[in-house]
Amino acid sequence: MTVQSVLDEIRGIPGTGDVIPIVDPVTEEPITEFTDAGPDAINAAVARAKETADAKVWSGMADYERAKVLWKVADLIDENAELLADLESLNTGIPPIQAQTITKVGSEWFRYYAGWCTKIDGIARDVNTGGLTGVESHMHAYTLREPYGVVGLIFPWNGPVFNFCAKLAPALAAGSSTVVKPAEETPLSALVLTRILSEAGVPDGVVNLVNGYGHTAGAQITAHPDVEKVAFTGSTEVGREIVQASAVSNLNKVTLELGGKSPVLIFDDADLDTAIAMAGFGCFLHSGQVCMLGSRIFAQRSVYERVVEGISVVANNLLLGGPQDEGAMIGPLISEKQLKRVMGYLEQGRSEGVDLVTGGHRLDRKGYFVHPTVATNVNPSTSRLFQEEIFGPIVTVLPFDTEEEAIALANDTAYGLAGTVWTSNLARAHRLAKEIKAGTIGLNCQLQFDHSMPFGGYKQSGWGYEAGKAGIETYLQSKTVWAQM
Ligand code: NAD
Repeated sequence: MTVQSVLDEIRGIPGTGDVIPIVDPVTEEPITEFTDAGPDAINAAVARAKETADAKVWSGMADYERAKVLWKVADLIDENAELLADLESLNTGIPPIQAQTITKVGSEWFRYYAGWCTKIDGIARDVNTGGLTGVESHMHAYTLREPYGVVGLIFPWNGPVFNFCAKLAPALAAGSSTVVKPAEETPLSALVLTRILSEAGVPDGVVNLVNGYGHTAGAQITAHPDVEKVAFTGSTEVGREIVQASAVSNLNKVTLELGGKSPVLIFDDADLDTAIAMAGFGCFLHSGQVCMLGSRIFAQRSVYERVVEGISVVANNLLLGGPQDEGAMIGPLISEKQLKRVMGYLEQGRSEGVDLVTGGHRLDRKGYFVHPTVATNVNPSTSRLFQEEIFGPIVTVLPFDTEEEAIALANDTAYGLAGTVWTSNLARAHRLAKEIKAGTIGLNCQLQFDHSMPFGGYKQSGWGYEAGKAGIETYLQSKTVWAQM
């Protein structure tokens, strides 16, 4: 496959819904288009998945054979890395070097979960009990870990290859059959990845790719009576709709990886040069379109001015540009819609009396580029810039005096995805790791993630976990079997 063949192929996939253009966020020009699958295609995809789940086409395969297939998937992703990275760059505007890194991470999801195929087990116990009968006897009890039948996998545009792999690798390792819907803005790489799954030996009908809008294709999957589980990554707002769909349909099990508004605490005893450089990169990466970025920075008052100045220097030095612009470190926002949203927050900030120390405007060129923006003089109780997830290159920087105040500010949010502490006082670092209400904490490091460690949100940042053992558990249900001995 080539980039051009993918652009052509997606245009030719039949559907009965709206025609949806795919726009290059760097040039603002359409690069191809596709048709929303429509209700019949979604029903057919769920039916195919159910057929394979009922027939145990995949879950019944020997676990070591499933592992081999997933390992092969990883190898094929590596073999197709250039194509996948090119598609990622074209579709999202991300610099090529970052697209290559993401693709590499994608194949590692499959290697990691290939290993889990042969390690799914339960517990066994001999128990003397009569249960509720009151007649005691000798029992042998054990648990079976079983996959859900049909699993719906829905994810956003901010890392299409990463998100596809993060969902498919554990779901397939668990033995699920799936219906997969990428974001309507970024459906390209999923075509290649689905082809790779098939080439590696995932049987037909186990992975069913559908394309369309969230309110059409996505909503139909989440409310479908034959979908037993939905694993969703996206906004907290849509996460609520997914829970509501489950409530009114079949109470399908839901895992949610949602938004964030993560705090970064910089104490005056920190290695300030490193802290400032990392905090600056850690809020503007991918133009702020990464869920775990530190979009609220808090600096101890004695170093506050230095931190504001340092983050502003980072903001001004980050070269924005498309994949063709040499040396570009930060790409554009994904779409005109996202651009309008971010510009709306900048207007909102101005009306709130916030100081935009640097940035605050879109770049004077084609493409959805917004200058990295540092906002100070923000009122945490009333400012929407402080409280809401913007998903753009805007960071608020506030001062604090004491550790207690820093903790209160860090936790003053509905979200709880991640948090960072920069300090040379190790006791304080570990104390704060406990105090910050978030699913991932970095102590003198930022943006850390690995397939082997669970990732999930506290508060309104999510339900359940991805990655690590917890990441496969989420695709397994537990059955307890009692045998009269
Ligand atoms: P979004 O919630 O608008 O869309 C995500 C996906 O859900 C898309 O595929 C979309 O088509 C689909 N969708 C939309 N409405 C739906 C509905 N009613 N029913 C079913 N599906 C529906 O999110 P987005 O704007 O594409 O992505 C940005 C968001 O994703 C941010 O909030 C970000 O924090 C979050 N995110 C979270 C993580 C994490 O791991 N916690 C990772 C990446 C992104």
